[in-house]
Amino acid sequence: MIKTDITVGINYNTEAIKDSICRALPVSREEIGEIRILKKTLKIEKEKYFALSLGIEFSPEREAGLLKMRKKVSHCPDYDMKLPEVKSAAPPVIVGAGPAGLFAALTLAESGLSPIVLERGERVEERRKRVSLFFTEKELDPESNIQFGEGGAGAFSDGKLKVGGMDKYKYKVLREFVAAGAPEDIIYTVGAHLGTDKLPSYVKRIREKIISLGGEFIYRARVTEIENKNGSVTGAVYEKDGKKERIDTDRVILATGHSAKDSFEMLKRMGVPMEARGFGIGVRLEHKREYINELILGEAEPPCEIGSASYHLVTHLPSGRSVYSFCMCPGGTVVAAASESGGIVTNGMSEEARLADNSNAAILVSVTPADFASDDALAGLELQRKIERAAFLSAGADYTAPSLELDCFMKNDKPRLSKSVEASYPCGVLPVSAEDYLPTFVTDSIRAAMLDFDDYLRGFYCPEALITGAETRSTSPIRVIRDDNFVSATLSGLYPIGEGAGYAGGIVSSGVDGVRCAERIILELLKKSTN
Ligand SMILES: Cc1cc2nc3c(=O)[nH]c(=O)nc-3n(C[C@H](O)[C@H](O)[C@H](O)COP(=O)(O)OP(=O)(O)OC[C@H]3O[C@@H](n4cnc5c(N)ncnc54)[C@H](O)[C@@H]3O)c2cc1C
Repeated sequence: MIKTDITVGINYNTEAIKDSICRALPVSREEIGEIRILKKTLKIEKEKYFALSLGIEFSPEREAGLLKMRKKVSHCPDYDMKLPEVKSAAPPVIVGAGPAGLFAALTLAESGLSPIVLERGERVEERRKRVSLFFTEKELDPESNIQFGEGGAGAFSDGKLKVGGMDKYKYKVLREFVAAGAPEDIIYTVGAHLGTDKLPSYVKRIREKIISLGGEFIYRARVTEIENKNGSVTGAVYEKDGKKERIDTDRVILATGHSAKDSFEMLKRMGVPMEARGFGIGVRLEHKREYINELILGEAEPPCEIGSASYHLVTHLPSGRSVYSFCMCPGGTVVAAASESGGIVTNGMSEEARLADNSNAAILVSVTPADFASDDALAGLELQRKIERAAFLSAGADYTAPSLELDCFMKNDKPRLSKSVEASYPCGVLPVSAEDYLPTFVTDSIRAAMLDFDDYLRGFYCPEALITGAETRSTSPIRVIRDDNFVSATLSGLYPIGEGAGYAGGIVSSGVDGVRCAERIILELLKKSTN
């Protein structure tokens, strides 16, 4: 197969692709064999069209001839990943069934190991009900919520798949979502997303596959201790139904995400080296979906081939702070993403169709360890907690969120809500000044950035837009130090992975970290067995 790039109209089909191939390359339609789309990017110029990277099959002689044209064609990369069967004395234990833990478990199970996954929350089906209960009754379950439970933090999200350059690990993660029922085009579409209405069913099927390959899941099992002797892991202790249980193991993959404060505290007690790292703090901004569509695409209701518009904005202020949009959810809703009682955390999610009334994104200000109150590795968690509690108290202490019309925020007017953009945050909102819960450097930076964003995308500062806070859990404020083999710097057999450990930031990258960690373990076991 060879790789080449073409362009096609928005409503393209296979025939249009073939026509475009024949225009781009000196070939006839009859010579074209299998066509595989490798990358599809929406281009918005005078006209809207798609740029496609294709893998195309020709006869070997034809391919050899075409490859001489170097500029237009190259070899089509093969991303399939095959790992050998291996054996281990004790089952590897995986803590956390988010994307990092699930994809580590799947990869290990495919190689004949029988991983045991310990998850503090519930199965994704029950978790969904628990999340709904929080949204309607404001009853937060600190063990099963938007952050915790099977599927991890992204189970109720937009399911954006940030891929960048493709490699075998990303391909594996995306392929597994497709095998679990996701549409094939997520593999190649730039900006593809899964949708919160579909994601839980994909998670369920991935779990079923892991079990069919010999893996095991234990839910409502919160890991409280990782036993070790002479610098090596010997077991994992977890609490379930008020009782302590223990599993003998020499390998624990810790995929606990960025919100498991107690897990970070456990690592601190164990003396596992960690360091503080920067993250982002700010608010969720909501515009009308049609308004953002019009602003970016020039049409309020774009065809489904294009879908609702998204944006990514960033500015670097003279103060040295960066302000950026994050986790944009076109046609989505703001979610109540707290995992601790007495705190407000906003985030966003969208259904596959992305047709809800509003489009939202976090607007975040960069914070660094220099902003933290102490040198402690966990100091960033404390800053998050402080802001989340202040947001909770500022709006009535019942998970109602503090919210404000953008114009009112920009002009520092008496707090009021927007008349035209209705808040989608599910537990209700009250008009509250952002200064009541955010540090002044954050609010000042957002105000300055809004003007920059409006320069770049005229109309982005829409007075009737709405901000709701606090957005604090953009990524992990901590890095758990590990070596090139994914092993903790001081404890052999402990593998800190995923977003919580500071090595990923999203569904795909966390899944990739899980696959890569599992690959290291498999290759290490293979090496041992052949020595
Ligand atoms: C509302 C929302 C929307 C998002 N939208 C997107 C998006 O559109 N695209 C994107 O790429 N990313 C998105 N993200 C981020 C993405 O979800 C995370 O980057 C990703 O889930 C991190 O994966 P992870 O496996 O490292 O950790 P997590 O997904 O956080 O999983 C950690 C798991 O460990 C479990 N756990 C924690 N402590 C313990 C313990 N002690 N014992 C047992 N189990 C434990 C938790 O219950 C959880 O299931 C979103 C996040 C949220 C909250």
